[in-house]
Amino acid sequence: MNFEDITKYIIEYIGDDPNRMDLKDTPERFKQYMDFVFSGYNMTNPIENSSLYRSTSDQMICIKKVSFISHCEHHVAPIIGEISLGYIPDLLIASLGSLLRTVQMFTRRLQIQERIVQQITDFIYEKTQSRGVISLIKAHHHCLICNASVLESDTEMCSLYYNGIFLEDENKRNDFLSTVKN
Ligand SMILES: [Zn+2]
Repeated sequence: MNFEDITKYIIEYIGDDPNRMDLKDTPERFKQYMDFVFSGYNMTNPIENSSLYRSTSDQMICIKKVSFISHCEHHVAPIIGEISLGYIPDLLIASLGSLLRTVQMFTRRLQIQERIVQQITDFIYEKTQSRGVISLIKAHHHCLICNASVLESDTEMCSLYYNGIFLEDENKRNDFLSTVKN
């Protein structure tokens, strides 16, 4: 079965007519959507040596509210949210673009939120050899909306994860949290 046949099968399964005129281009658009939201599987290391620069400071660097879309691996339902990152460099800092691509690489897959936050945090820690990385994710889980049988839900799931110096230093954790709060 090719992708077009699969899409037509799904459209028929949900009770619509796959040959309806207005759905003519839907298989191709659905394929483009799938290729985009699951492109993380095909991304290669986003923090290469060319994305790393010599650090001139040992103070925390924060990136706030990076939007992402992922899909939960249990229901293939969208997880839509934002992540804020902080890290304390040792000798190296990473380009902003490489950090954003790291978020894309781990979110554009079938995921669970706890794993997204761990993978991003530990990957940045390893590649930048920094003193510590901390991440906060807030997201809406669309499978929750379905399970609750309501069409709208403001429920956000939050996950905080940190490693390195943040494990020992509560003040640094609080610095991060107060920086990304608003
Ligand atoms: Zn789910």
